[in-house]
Amino acid sequence: MPELPEVETIRRGLEQLLLGREFAAVEVCYQGSLKRPTAEELQQKLPGRRVTSIGRRGKYLLLHLHDDTILVIHLRMTGQLVLSNAAVSVHKHLQLIFSFTDGSCLAFSDIRKFGTIWWLTMECLVELKGLSSLGPEPLSADFHFPYLDREIEKRTINVKALLLNQQFLAGLGNIYADEILHRACVSPERSSRSLTRSERLALFAAIRSVLEEAITRRGTTFSDYRDASGAAGSFQEQLQVYGRRNKPCRRCGQTIERKVVSGRGTHFCPVCQL
Ligand SMILES: [Zn+2]
Repeated sequence: MPELPEVETIRRGLEQLLLGREFAAVEVCYQGSLKRPTAEELQQKLPGRRVTSIGRRGKYLLLHLHDDTILVIHLRMTGQLVLSNAAVSVHKHLQLIFSFTDGSCLAFSDIRKFGTIWWLTMECLVELKGLSSLGPEPLSADFHFPYLDREIEKRTINVKALLLNQQFLAGLGNIYADEILHRACVSPERSSRSLTRSERLALFAAIRSVLEEAITRRGTTFSDYRDASGAAGSFQEQLQVYGRRNKPCRRCGQTIERKVVSGRGTHFCPVCQL
């Protein structure tokens, strides 16, 4: 599933490729992915609008248009958003194709079909609860140690569930939660309130450093994730625990284990994560 580093990599790619382009047409191949408005309204009204900036909140991509409307895209499990300079041939996983006046196309495809698109005015953005209830961006100044410390005290959940909670912090998913906990040397099953001050500081530092490195590596590609140009990321080469069950821990040599924590398959080292 694309998490913050993957969505940020896509955002940066789209920013280089898409700014100033004007929509010419939209083809809606799968109605279920378009939450708002109807396909007819989108097809009628989107042409003529230009892309002015590309933002991101958590795992949501935000394409701002020149008339203060906004295309909101969530890739969910297996969504891909790839720009090509020629027409896209229709295949069974295509959800929508946006064509631009210069002949280029932005194709939204999704094998699992959970990915979603909304076209909204800025005022309606608050109606997207998943978006408006997001916690701070982990790499912004809004996320600081006193915030993490305070939020930990509010909850009685394990630290894996804490990291996955989008109201606590925007953008983390299963891969990076596991990697962050390994870097911070904290067991995923620990009650977050049981973390000592030094463990909380280690967790805070690990959240930032893991995400920064993953963005530098253009995300993690296990199977589906591609950037806006269709290229894979390379952070999978750096993974310490995720997807490494039964392999030796790169830090201590112990065998990496996997168990279900908070309903999610969780990878950890039983020796260096306490
Ligand atoms: Zn270890």
